[in-house]
Amino acid sequence: MYENYMQMAIAKAKEGKNASTGGAFGAVIVFKGQVVCAVHNQVKKEQDITQHAELHAIQIAAKKTG
Ligand SMILES: [Zn+2]
Repeated sequence: MYENYMQMAIAKAKEGKNASTGGAFGAVIVFKGQVVCAVHNQVKKEQDITQHAELHAIQIAAKKTG
């Protein structure tokens, strides 16, 4: 189960690396067995150091869950 979430994060990291949006970093947030978001680093694309994958994921999750 958790391996699948890690695989999802790794896939996102590769996606971000290939798209050159930032380094090869991915993050997945899961709540009560549901994926809330799966994202990759956006630092280079957005020129914003708060767009690390894990911070970006937290921002999205916060917006989705209030
Ligand atoms: Zn980070």
